[in-house]
Amino acid sequence: MRKNNGYMIPKVKRKTADSYVCSGCGKTLSPRDAFFYVDSCNCAITDNSKPFCRECYRIKYGE
Ligand SMILES: [Zn+2]
Repeated sequence: MRKNNGYMIPKVKRKTADSYVCSGCGKTLSPRDAFFYVDSCNCAITDNSKPFCRECYRIKYGE
């Protein structure tokens, strides 16, 4: 198993959905624009990960 340096890396999760709704502001996001929180192990983005727009992601999790 690979480890990273503990950075939180925003990733785009591609699923079959055409769009996501930001969990912060409720804005509709295309899959391309959706950011998902990745925890420190960076193992996987689970289905429990909530989508955020870039702005809300930064507010919630920082850079
Ligand atoms: Zn938002």
